[in-house]
Amino acid sequence: FSHSVGKKMKKVPLHVKILAALVLAFAIGLWSNYSTEGTTEKPDWFIFIRDISTFIGTLFLNGLKMVVIPLVMTSIICGVAKIGGERDFGRLGIKTLLFYSLTGLLAVTTGLLCVNLIEPGQVPEEIRSQMLDNQADGHSAKIDGALKQADRGWAGILEIFHRMVPANLFKAAVEGQLLGLIFFSLLFGFFITRLPEKHQSIQLGFWESLNSLILSITNFIISFAPYGVFGLVTPTLMKVGLGTLSVMGSFALTVALGLLIHSLIVLPLLLRLFGKINFIDHYRAMAPALLTAFSTASSSATLPLTMECVTKRAGVSKKVSSFTLPLGATMNMDGTALFECVVVVFLAQLFGVEMGWITQTTVVLMALLTSIGVAGIPSASLVAIIVILQAVNFPPESIAIGVGIVYVVDRILDMCRTAVNVLGDSCAAAIIGKSEGEKGYYSSPQS
Ligand code: ASP
Repeated sequence: FSHSVGKKMKKVPLHVKILAALVLAFAIGLWSNYSTEGTTEKPDWFIFIRDISTFIGTLFLNGLKMVVIPLVMTSIICGVAKIGGERDFGRLGIKTLLFYSLTGLLAVTTGLLCVNLIEPGQVPEEIRSQMLDNQADGHSAKIDGALKQADRGWAGILEIFHRMVPANLFKAAVEGQLLGLIFFSLLFGFFITRLPEKHQSIQLGFWESLNSLILSITNFIISFAPYGVFGLVTPTLMKVGLGTLSVMGSFALTVALGLLIHSLIVLPLLLRLFGKINFIDHYRAMAPALLTAFSTASSSATLPLTMECVTKRAGVSKKVSSFTLPLGATMNMDGTALFECVVVVFLAQLFGVEMGWITQTTVVLMALLTSIGVAGIPSASLVAIIVILQAVNFPPESIAIGVGIVYVVDRILDMCRTAVNVLGDSCAAAIIGKSEGEKGYYSSPQS
């Protein structure tokens, strides 16, 4: 009976449900923040809503993280094993890396232009001191940690490349280090193609069935996305509200403007130019993944949704998506690279540090390089920002203060840049799919 009723009721698409959850989360989160502002003792209802939504959000986030590792490994192994010949493999690899470098460069340039034109760091003295006061309130543990990590400077950057070839595969998996797992899975898939026929078919059969099993579990978890998104966003907004944004107004606006230009002008142009794809169709297909990226502030945790949307709703083949998307989630971060650039130049303006074009070029290069190594987890760019500030000889005593100032608004901006990171990866997959002769479909998204 329930089945026939379910069939008769029109199915609400997943992205609409997620959007509705997000609107509700904004309403409840901001209202709770506003109505308890300034009170140190939070009322019982506040604690109740906060705790229950945190519980739901964490459950959903754990579910996503739970499938990321088996999903990445099985998808890459199947994808590469099926690509077969070396030529396909090399061609896809080169296209992917070229596209990622191009979009990264465009993102950084956009960020640099915005921050130089708007000059958000040129603030009146009173606002400047308000910012410094705000920062005195805390967050120091997190920033101390980031400072310590960044202290390794170049050694830290080299470590990224060490991590690509993990000495201990299981340790990489336990620590969620995707880069190492990706490299291993690429090798694994590639050498399946070199096995004698008999072994090859056993391997292919096994990994393919495992992959479809993991995909079913992923789908099941994704069906809870509306609840998860509500659970993730509500407590965040209850805590930070939007009040903090006003002090940091022009800085936050500069970042937002850069991200908007990248996602509403640059990427749509690339989609049209290289893939003959209408960006509205693409964005609609990607909506569940973009909204989840926004809610989790983590590209890695969003990866299961990104893969689902790109294959099922945008019609990109598994061959292309299983290769480009896991790589993109760790290596291609347009939003992060743009953000890093804006932050570094903004802080230079704020502290009156002269930054010529040569230094700014160094910033560009380092932003590109570090965005490859930044993990797809919340606030991961803070360490990269410190590394860049150190590399351009920013006064050491101002680094902690500067990063502290940025940290005040980091969460909200992190949500926005992570959505752009995921968007960039999905555009790459769609364009590369088209260039491989795939048709793609954007109609009637399945949810
Ligand atoms: N949170 C970002 C991501 O997961 C990384 C960052 O910019 O901090 O994509």
